[in-house]
Amino acid sequence: MSTIAVIGAGTMGRGIAYTAAIQGFAVQLYDVYEDALERAKVEIERLGAKSFERGYLNEEERERLQTITYNGSLQHAVESADVVIEAVLEEMSLKLSVFKELDEYAPAHAILATNTSTLSPTEIGANTSRPDKVIAMHFFNPVYRMKLIEIIRGLDTSDETVNTIEAIGRELGKETVIVNEFPGFVTSRMNCLIGNEAMNMLMEGVASAEDIDKAIKLGLNHPMGPLELADLVGLDSRLRNMNALHRALGEKYRPCPILEKYVKAGRLGKKSGQGFYTYE
Ligand code: NAD
Repeated sequence: MSTIAVIGAGTMGRGIAYTAAIQGFAVQLYDVYEDALERAKVEIERLGAKSFERGYLNEEERERLQTITYNGSLQHAVESADVVIEAVLEEMSLKLSVFKELDEYAPAHAILATNTSTLSPTEIGANTSRPDKVIAMHFFNPVYRMKLIEIIRGLDTSDETVNTIEAIGRELGKETVIVNEFPGFVTSRMNCLIGNEAMNMLMEGVASAEDIDKAIKLGLNHPMGPLELADLVGLDSRLRNMNALHRALGEKYRPCPILEKYVKAGRLGKKSGQGFYTYE
């Protein structure tokens, strides 16, 4: 297993490409938009240079980043891949159409993984000719720093596929957990609930955003407060995840009205400059 194709060059796709390249995998990064590929190249090189200056990367690792191929053709990106990791937007219809193409162009032995936060790898796999080779490989943001890959096996995912993805996770320098598919897996389900409860508290006037986050960080030893984390993830993404969990798991996961109101107003968190906090 030496060639990884990453589909989607956004926040997660470029993070996965960066991590795989410095660990010595041959990496093909594909996006449907040329400018997304250009932005990814700039970001990957900027992070590589900064990490090198600070001593987190050696010369050889930094040079490996130069071997990433930025590819505007999905067929070319996946035709020699051993593993494909999809990181396009969190929409089932989009993922299904991307996987249809992956199934057509990737070699028969290739594993097709999705970096979905909430969607069903079983459903994605069932729409391919190789459901035994379809799995979710859930990375965390920022990929280069976060230690975990949550591996979610679909109903028909084979043991061999799970074992191979676990081994690749180790080669990527990560820890892994194996989860049987259920809506929200382990991390998204827990994280959405904590974040939503913090938003409800803010709405009820229990405390300010700063004090809710401070209480959770210093009192419960979380590295980030739930509201600052939601701002980092993006409030539109969080709302999409909450809606998926609400549909699947019921009332407990109803999105907080503040979250819906902020998204309607275009307050999407850090990426738009305003969410629960204001950013420069
Ligand atoms: P993003 O919006 O930053 O990037 C998505 C990329 O997909 C964009 O570059 C877009 O151009 C590209 N794209 C859209 N349609 C495409 C297509 N047909 N073919 C190829 N590329 C296409 O999104 P993201 O935050 O990187 O999220 C990607 C996936 O990772 C989602 O499933 C999300 O749920 C999951 N995820 C996100 C985070 C996070 O914190 N952002 C964490 C874990 C998992």
